[in-house]
Formats: sequence, C-alpha cells, structure tokens
Amino acid sequence: MTLVVLSVGSNLGDRMARLQAVVDGLGDAVRALSPVYETDAWGGVEQGPFLNAVVIADDDNADGHEWLRRAQALEIANDRVREQKWGPRTLDVDLVSCYDADAEVFSDDERLTLPHPLAHLRAFVMVPWLAVDPDAELTVAGERQRVDRLLAELEPADRDGVRLTGLVLGLSA
Ligand code: ATP
Ligand code: CA
Ligand code: CA
Repeated sequence: MTLVVLSVGSNLGDRMARLQAVVDGLGDAVRALSPVYETDAWGGVEQGPFLNAVVIADDDNADGHEWLRRAQALEIANDRVREQKWGPRTLDVDLVSCYDADAEVFSDDERLTLPHPLAHLRAFVMVPWLAVDPDAELTVAGERQRVDRLLAELEPADRDGVRLTGLVLGLSA
C-alpha cells in the first residue's frame, strides 16, 4: 500500500464544501479525517482565513506522483486558479508525507518534494495531523522527528492561531 498524509486548505467561496469535495473525490481511499481548523493565512499575503484539515488516504495503486496527480485534479475540479504565490485559493491539496508499506517515500524532483519541505514550520499542518495521529513523525533535514516536538518548537502564537471549529468532514457512504 501507499499511504499519504494530505493537508487540505481553502479560503475562497464555500470553504467547507471544497474540503468535503476532497474527501468525496478520494472515495474509498480515505482512512482518517482530522477535525476542521480555521487559520489566519500564512506567508504574508493579506487575505481571508483558511479552513484546514488533514486527510489520510491509502491505495495500493498510487505512488507519490499519482497522489500528486489526484491532488491537482481535485484542485482543478474545485476551480483552483493559480495566481499569486501563497495567495487566496478555493482549494489547496498538498502531500505532506507518503509511505510505501512501512518505508517513507522521498522525492526531490521538480514536480514533487516529499516530505513537504515546509510542513515542519506550519502549525496548520501539524495540529490537524496530530489530531488524527498523535505519534506522527516527519523527516526534517534527514532526521526522523516527532511531529509533537516539531510543533512545540514553533512560536506559541503560531499554534494558538490554529483554531478548532465545530465543522466536521464526513466519510462518503
Ligand atoms: P507550498 O507548497 O509552499 O504550500 P503552494 O501550495 O501555494 O505552496 P502550489 O502553487 O499549490 O504551491 O504548488 C506549486 C507546485 O508545487 C505544484 O505544481 C507541485 O508540482 C509542487 N509540489 C512539490 N512538492 C509538492 C507536495 N509535496 N505537495 C504538493 N505539491 C507539491
Ligand atoms: Ca500549500
Ligand atoms: Ca499546493
């Protein structure tokens, strides 16, 4: 199997519908869904807050590039337009980390970097991930590290900026 940890975010239009569209689009591959958090935008561009969640999926027939293809197909189906870097978007689906059996998948080509090179700096990725997997680990600079420790290294304001909502994603029937 390959298992993927996806970080999903939306800050344009019906944000919750966009996140749910990812869950519906991944169908049977979905294994776990985090709660939904609201987060002020990251990266310095003035824009509305995001809804963020983590989705864990697995599929024997998908490798890292196939997950990227599915992620980008979901973005396009949800009217993603690439304008400004780190600007507002209807849907962003990033691959945080990927496993083939129990082996972590690494990628460093022009289309796909695994694990995601900024995940360890982003509370909006790590907080939802820990909610579904409290023992999550991530390779940073060649070293496996516990995600709870990486999160603890961020500024308190970064962690506090990831606010739990009462919104709930649903598994498709
Ligand atoms: P960031 O990656 O810093 O969160 P972003 O999500 O705003 O930025 P995008 O414009 O969505 O960036 O994606 C730019 C390119 O990043 C994509 O075309 C894709 O090929 C590439 N990419 C590389 N590694 C990954 C990954 N792990 N997950 C998703 N996209 C990736
Ligand atoms: Ca992103
Ligand atoms: Ca992206």
